[in-house]
Amino acid sequence: KISKQRLVVLGGGESGVGTAILGKKKEFEVFVSDFGKIKESYKQVLLHHEIEWEEGGHSEAKILSADIVMKSPGIPDNAPIVIKLIAKGVKVVSEIEFASKFTEATIVGITGSNGKTTTATLTYELLKQGGLNVALGGNIGKSFAEQVADGRYQNYVLELSSFQLDGIDSFAPHIAVLLNLSPDHLDRYDYKYENYIASKFRIAMNQTKDDYFIYDADDIEINKWLTQNPIQSQLLPFSVTKQLKQGACIINNEIVITIDNNNLTMPIGTLGLQGKHNQKNAMAASTVANLLKIRKTTIRECLESFQGVEHRLEKVLKINNVMYVNDSKATNVNATFYALDSMSTPTVWIVGGVDKGNDYTELLPLVNEKVKGIICLGVDNEKIIEAFGNVAETLIETHSMEQAVKQAYRLAERGDTVLLSPACASFDLFENYEDRGRQFKEAVRHL
Ligand code: ADP
Repeated sequence: KISKQRLVVLGGGESGVGTAILGKKKEFEVFVSDFGKIKESYKQVLLHHEIEWEEGGHSEAKILSADIVMKSPGIPDNAPIVIKLIAKGVKVVSEIEFASKFTEATIVGITGSNGKTTTATLTYELLKQGGLNVALGGNIGKSFAEQVADGRYQNYVLELSSFQLDGIDSFAPHIAVLLNLSPDHLDRYDYKYENYIASKFRIAMNQTKDDYFIYDADDIEINKWLTQNPIQSQLLPFSVTKQLKQGACIINNEIVITIDNNNLTMPIGTLGLQGKHNQKNAMAASTVANLLKIRKTTIRECLESFQGVEHRLEKVLKINNVMYVNDSKATNVNATFYALDSMSTPTVWIVGGVDKGNDYTELLPLVNEKVKGIICLGVDNEKIIEAFGNVAETLIETHSMEQAVKQAYRLAERGDTVLLSPACASFDLFENYEDRGRQFKEAVRHL
């Protein structure tokens, strides 16, 4: 009898547990190892599937004898155990690479620095409402691997982070979307922006001429890369500034999507989502839907009704004719740029948290034009005060969400907007961005 292939899964989170389930189903001998703690609910799942696991450390000999290792996206390449595995020549892949080997489904992969979740969710809705048998996975919701184990789906929409893409070698989505590029996670890329960019473009590296690559033609870095590194798949650009014969653009306040002389049009004013960035997200998602032959009326209806995802420019409440908007997911300057850009009324802006080496210069004109008051919400607000102290009429420091919302309430007048869009990570005062957003909504509801 041939002995089973040994799969070791590093990290017992959503993608780790999903991979373990798929591995087990495909007759691997599976071992899950987590250096930290595994959630109780995941332990139950592992137990149920009779999968062996450990936590609080790595059993090195056992791990090093694996035939293949799946590394969860949160584990960096320079973790000691990973260095040892690579030195020994063991294949280390991501969940996406591992799972894609076991499905023949059509895969749409979506990456970019900002807008992945919004665009992946919208794309999923378009395909689902268009009648396709489709699942949403990757960095969002249920793990891709577990859904592949389930085996029910003919189409997948995957939200792909650069970490997921770093761990692929043969994965090729039929349709790849690259939304935009701005520096992020550079601590994992030797502080080199070009390494991070190269990582994002891995989404297209195994595509062939029968595949598609949808991208933002307004993005300087993307264009630069494409002129230097030609890719095999068919290019479908989108733009909010240029007119395009193939791809998506805006003509007379209408989104126009053209693929091989076939047109789909949609007035911008009827989009459910606001802001220029969301016009881009909508163009990318509808280009995918169009390629997969979703009916035009379904696409239009879906774009009208889609209200976005929690914590992304989410309208919370109107109090005394002041709209409160939760954009807690804006954890970098670029996301906040688009949030401020989409404000159409005077704005009281709640900003701050853990600085990721932020450069606020690009926000100055927008703050000048739109922001009437700044509420700093972070343990260390020095950089924000330095950047905007002379620009905003009012700048107030606060140290809890409740204080911040109360101060915003005091400052805002009828017709204004209160916007939480921190441009920073949340870990100084909150568990994560979801916690920050929920606390904001709680505080608003208590006003
Ligand atoms: P991701 O999954 O890439 O983090 P999200 O859809 O969760 O993206 O959005 C993250 C933040 O970026 C939110 O604050 C959102 O309003 C903003 N955002 C969404 N789409 C874009 C875009 N195309 N360009 C810039 N910012 C965007």
